Amino acid sequence: MSESIEKVKCLIVGSGPAGFTAAIYASRANMKPVLYQGMQPGGQLTTTTEVDNFPGYPKGVDGTQMMMDLEAQAKRFGADVRTGMITKVDFAGPVHKIWVDNKTEIHSDTIVISTGASARYLGLDSEQHYLANGGGVSACAVCDGFFYKGQETVIVGAGDSACEEASYLANICTKVTMLVRRDEFRASKIMAERVRNIDNIEILHNTELDEVLGDGNVVTGVRVVNNKSNAKHEISCTGAFIAIGHTPNTKVFEPWLDMDETGYIVNNPGSSKTNIEGVFVSGDAADHVYRQAVTAAGTGCMAALDAERYLAAKGLH
Ligand code: NDP
Repeated sequence: MSESIEKVKCLIVGSGPAGFTAAIYASRANMKPVLYQGMQPGGQLTTTTEVDNFPGYPKGVDGTQMMMDLEAQAKRFGADVRTGMITKVDFAGPVHKIWVDNKTEIHSDTIVISTGASARYLGLDSEQHYLANGGGVSACAVCDGFFYKGQETVIVGAGDSACEEASYLANICTKVTMLVRRDEFRASKIMAERVRNIDNIEILHNTELDEVLGDGNVVTGVRVVNNKSNAKHEISCTGAFIAIGHTPNTKVFEPWLDMDETGYIVNNPGSSKTNIEGVFVSGDAADHVYRQAVTAAGTGCMAALDAERYLAAKGLH
């Protein structure tokens, strides 16, 4: 091996709650972890405003602040937090090779993947505006639904996630309008049936979101279009939820790791182990069901503990 190649015991990829929790545990176990933050330092929580459902914050916490706190906590124990994207990996041998920003090669005994998933959006300017300013567009009903208690909301999508989120919102909001672009659901029959049977959910088929309406600060409604008749109409609401799927950020690992058909990494049930020894996964990169900060943090902890045990079993720690 060339002298110039850096060798580490534990390399963590990603800087959401999973990555930073793995870094806290790994640094406390003296594994001297190096964490690469990736494209969106702090992860998905930095795109939300208030986080009200992470245990330990009775008054809630700003998403970006929470990620800064997690980073500070990881650094307190010596985690080496770096800027950079992992652009290539080679998991062929016992030492795992990764490349940062297409140039720097690093070798690591263990890898913790915490690259998360990105919510898909429609791409409308108005959607992005009210998403960025926290004025009423969100991709997570479980995270943000509570802010719309007693109000009317709209949700876009017809998969299992949209159905689950619509049911969740229906318990909080006075009315939920579901915009389904086809004349049928993509969701499983049982999930679709559930939303059809909830009184305060109105389902509009063949209907798409044309524009998010508001006063510049907060959402006041949406304009929708029927894609058969092209007729448009406005719906009054204070929240617009986008539930059209997520994309796991796992492409770089594709040649090496077992994944499901949508790109989520498959882990051994009950652990963070992947099909490659010494490579562990945590957070949304392996979870299309729960996708919560607290579950991501929990699996980040699991990955660091699994990595530590792996190093100990191999006599490397
Ligand atoms: P899906 O890909 O299953 O569904 C996405 C939905 O969004 C589809 O209805 C799709 O419409 C719609 N959509 C996509 N793009 C647009 C657009 N531009 N405009 C309007 N609508 C659009 O994603 P999910 O997140 O719902 O689910 C992902 C996976 O996770 C699935 O396998 C699902 O079964 C699973 N899951 C399981 C759960 C559980 O078991 N409890 C809970 C949540 C998810 P169209 O149908 O027309 O393509």
